[in-house]
Amino acid sequence: MEASAALCATHPESPADGTCSRCGLFICERCRRWQVGRMLCLRCHQVALGEKPSRRATVALIFATAGFCGFVPGLVAIFLGHQELAAIHRGEAPGSGEGIARLARNVGYFHLAMLVVIAIGLVVRS
Ligand SMILES: [Zn+2]
Ligand SMILES: [Zn+2]
Repeated sequence: MEASAALCATHPESPADGTCSRCGLFICERCRRWQVGRMLCLRCHQVALGEKPSRRATVALIFATAGFCGFVPGLVAIFLGHQELAAIHRGEAPGSGEGIARLARNVGYFHLAMLVVIAIGLVVRS
């Protein structure tokens, strides 16, 4: 690999540290931004942040919220949150949904923990 010989597209004086996973531009350490484990150039990072989150990210959050009255919808939130994060990682879903998907998944795990606590409580009592 000749990566060390390549130069940053924005800073010709800096050696490139890698390429943008979106536009393929050579980027140096200063230009490098991360999103869900993807390396992006400054411009693509801006674009990714401006995109509307996907429907699945929003639906996941709705299930996570619904989990507060019954916990079970929280399990759907975990599933959808995981799927959405994987899709963002593959570049198939807008990166702006990352925060929402992550939140939905974490809230979902909270509901799962509550279900486990309740289940243990029932077993102990019987
Ligand atoms: Zn780019
Ligand atoms: Zn640069």
